[in-house]
Amino acid sequence: MMQTPLTVGSMLEHAEKFFAKKEVISQTHDQLHRLTYADVGERTRRLMSALNQLGIEKGDRVGTLAWNHHRHLEIYFAAPGMNAVLHTINIRLSPEHIAYIINHAEDQILFIDEDVLPLIESIQDQLKTVKAFVVMTDKDTLPESSLTPFYSYEKLLEIGDPQQAFVTDMDENDPAGMCYTSATTGKPKGVMYSHRGIVLHTMALGLANTAAVSESDVLMPVVPQFHVNAWGMPFAGTWFGSTLVMPGPHFTAKRLADFIERYRVTVTAGVPTIWIGLLRELEQGSYDTSSLRGVLCGGAAAPKGLIQAFEQKLGVPFAHAYGATETTPLVTYSRLKSYQQNLSEEDKINERAKQGALVPGIEMKVIGSNGEAAWNGEDMGELLLRGPWIASEYYKDDRTEEAFHDGWFHTGDVITVDEEGNIQIVDRTKDLIKSGGEWISSVELENAIMAHDKVAEASVVGMPDAEWQERPIACVVLQEDLNETVSKDELLQFIRPKFAKWSLPDDVLFFDEIPKTSVGKFMKRQLRDHVKDHYKV
Ligand code: ADP
Repeated sequence: MMQTPLTVGSMLEHAEKFFAKKEVISQTHDQLHRLTYADVGERTRRLMSALNQLGIEKGDRVGTLAWNHHRHLEIYFAAPGMNAVLHTINIRLSPEHIAYIINHAEDQILFIDEDVLPLIESIQDQLKTVKAFVVMTDKDTLPESSLTPFYSYEKLLEIGDPQQAFVTDMDENDPAGMCYTSATTGKPKGVMYSHRGIVLHTMALGLANTAAVSESDVLMPVVPQFHVNAWGMPFAGTWFGSTLVMPGPHFTAKRLADFIERYRVTVTAGVPTIWIGLLRELEQGSYDTSSLRGVLCGGAAAPKGLIQAFEQKLGVPFAHAYGATETTPLVTYSRLKSYQQNLSEEDKINERAKQGALVPGIEMKVIGSNGEAAWNGEDMGELLLRGPWIASEYYKDDRTEEAFHDGWFHTGDVITVDEEGNIQIVDRTKDLIKSGGEWISSVELENAIMAHDKVAEASVVGMPDAEWQERPIACVVLQEDLNETVSKDELLQFIRPKFAKWSLPDDVLFFDEIPKTSVGKFMKRQLRDHVKDHYKV
């Protein structure tokens, strides 16, 4: 066989040729833009040429601090397209972490959304490698800023050559992108993605056994482009010629619901907290969601109640998937097999609440206390992964050895596998609650509590306990629009039938809001501190 390199730039070239008329619909701070892939292709070529003129070379890191919109999409292809490296930075991290990440990655240039400018100005003195700043604005004049040298994105495109060629004679193992984990403890860890890894991962998103992204889709990535490349959706949408809908900065559940109705969105992707918000909006308003064929959910366990509400109340298919920054991220996808279609509604939801089966191309091992765990839905073990889009190290980080050894990525996730090969995340190793020598899954308790009608969110954490080592405490937010309340005893009574008595939470604390991480997951570390303060332990 021939050895032609798999490159990120060639995915956009394909869209320019075969899907030139298909559209990217993009909301920015000030306006809604509608571009074709022919437009996006030309603008990306101009951008590569302008970056060349600014001195960006092979291997240089091109940082972005931006929401989901067409300009961010163009950098997704321009940086790798010229054999530089796309580095998407999580704008919700602390200024200290953002400065650390930019210096550690040695970013040469930063592309910044207007609302993120103050943040970068506040840390500009700490940035050691950045040679230029570009603001992505719709306005004709440059906003006031202390950043220098400071350019406007659209003005840069004007100096760029619309015929600039993508670099094609590169090694497919060259770095194309990088992301840092959001780091709930310690400093963020960086992962480099190769061209080959990204292209093969994108191909996996098009498989009928996974997300089946195709030309006929209208794809709306809600998961931020700075969170593991919006799970590869912008790459897949472009390569396969889907219409892309980019929801832009500071979107609300109402905007998402409006866009779904207006643009007939077929597939959308995000973390559970986004869908909890959207569900409330859809239930309160009257939106036409009949176009949706998949609400893709990952990043944290989707509660069964959420899946049930989307599927049974709204008739919207809900798909659970699992992955991590280190895995590009798609690893498993939950789909019923053909012979499971006749299961009862209850059994179907139970199946779909699992994280699903391995995507072809990836291998796994599950290591429990007695070696490899059996596929019986009960034995627990840590999930180990390997494959062409699984990272093999952290970028210049001495914590590599902890997670990558013996040829496998050690995920830190404890799982079970059923007879069908479907995995279920029991917990992150560090979130499992150890009580009297037994393990209690915080995820299972959370899901059971969130199945209660009056509960909006629940997070369960371990509290240090002199006798049992740790005991579970449930932190609960009630549905805000209901005037009714629910007592601790009522909630415990509600979940009692599903659990052994010793694994029930010792207490239920009610909150107005549960603190969230930068990517919208429950912030367990902060919650644990809060619970400890509450009980003065
Ligand atoms: P961070 O580590 O910064 O939270 P990642 O997105 O890399 O960011 O997180 C990956 C982790 O998220 C996984 O290791 C797993 O613990 C959790 N996760 C991802 N998808 C799911 C899912 N569908 N169900 C449960 N947990 C999930």
